Amino acid sequence: MKLLITGGAGFIGSNFIFYMQQVHPDYELVCIDALTYAGNPETLERAQGQLRFFKMDISDKDAISSLFEEERFDAVVNFAAESHVDRSIEHPEVFLTTNILGTQALMEACRRFGVGRFHQISTDEVYGDLPLDRPDLSFDEDSPIHTSSPYSASKAAADLLALAYYRTYGLPVTISRCSNNYGPFQFPEKLIPLTIINALRGKSIPVYGNGLNRRDWIYVEDHCAAVDLILHKGKIGEVYNIGSSSEQSNLDVVRSILSELGKSEALISFVTDRPGHDLRYAINARKIQTALGWKPKTEFDNGLRKTVDWYLKNQSWWENILNGTYRNPARLLSGVG
Ligand code: NAD
Repeated sequence: MKLLITGGAGFIGSNFIFYMQQVHPDYELVCIDALTYAGNPETLERAQGQLRFFKMDISDKDAISSLFEEERFDAVVNFAAESHVDRSIEHPEVFLTTNILGTQALMEACRRFGVGRFHQISTDEVYGDLPLDRPDLSFDEDSPIHTSSPYSASKAAADLLALAYYRTYGLPVTISRCSNNYGPFQFPEKLIPLTIINALRGKSIPVYGNGLNRRDWIYVEDHCAAVDLILHKGKIGEVYNIGSSSEQSNLDVVRSILSELGKSEALISFVTDRPGHDLRYAINARKIQTALGWKPKTEFDNGLRKTVDWYLKNQSWWENILNGTYRNPARLLSGVG
């Protein structure tokens, strides 16, 4: 199997590459990534197996077309995206270019060159949010699309386009919508790594509003295993939710990290809430469990402990992000074989 993985220098894409290298060492993996601020070549330098990398923007139609012409992929998994909600509120345009037009450029190339599968990595945020006082409610794959931020709107648009490419052109598409991921190699702008790093540096930890917003957290490796399963056993044209029923309020997540590190809760600083901030996400992942036999393996407490431990042991990885040297072109992918 020759697999194109887009956005592989980011958090989930890189974990997926490492996962696939372990589970399918015979696969030929090609990664493209535009290396935006969120793409970290140092992460890919840790790849253990064979991997080829091209710096490429998924919305650059000509470059994508030439790549597909030369490489002839069996399948594409599209992780590449602008992924941070706060940035989408400040600068929505790049989210539309990458998340919508980039996805379309990839699907167009898949269609032209007869790629056997296009898998779109999506998010539970396309369903919008749920009230905090209705713990009985959760989203399944038929829940309406009801987005809140430019980020989630752009991801929803890409999902709808993917389904249109399946219906109109018969493109063999699958989509997965996953809840909040955490684990190694996550960029320090996101809640869990930001909290760990600020706590280690004795800096204040910003928490939006009253901190009671709830998210369903999944350890990144469980997400990767689910995507691998969908790629091999998923039904064309279907959407699969991925979640691990580990709901936590943001405040509880922060408190757990502080307790794990033995740091004081006085570091918590409540800041003005994000505009349009979703209250609660909850995913019903019964379909992937019953149809494909997937189950998450990592309990939240255990996953959080592993994650804290990883950031403690990989201080130079995140220090190079904080001091900007991770973007030094001299070190671009020198370790990728
Ligand atoms: P990330 O921001 O860590 O990584 C995104 C990667 O995409 C980066 O390496 C970046 O350089 C690359 N990229 C951005 N624009 C590009 C472009 N135009 N062309 C090529 N590469 C480009 O994001 P992540 O958290 O790893 O998320 C990966 C995917 O998973 C995204 O599609 C996101 O919507 C989805 N997702 C994320 C979560 C989560 O909790 N992080 C949850 C559900 C779904």
